[in-house]
Amino acid sequence: MPCKWLEVCPLRAYEKKGLISDKWKKEYCQTKSNWKNCKRYKMSEKCEHHPDNMMPDGTIKK
Ligand code: SF4
Repeated sequence: MPCKWLEVCPLRAYEKKGLISDKWKKEYCQTKSNWKNCKRYKMSEKCEHHPDNMMPDGTIKK
């Protein structure tokens, strides 16, 4: 089962605009369970603020 945020994650807008490739989606969001390792996901679960431009590995997209 993919990440529960797959469709609504802010990263989708970045992809649509061509600012990031779909590698994050393929390596995290759409996987069976690797989304559990996504920093965005983990912070959401803890109700911790995270910027829209933070990638699943925690890097900030400039
Ligand atoms: S970036 Fe993280 S929180 Fe957003 S959809 Fe992908 S796995 Fe889920």
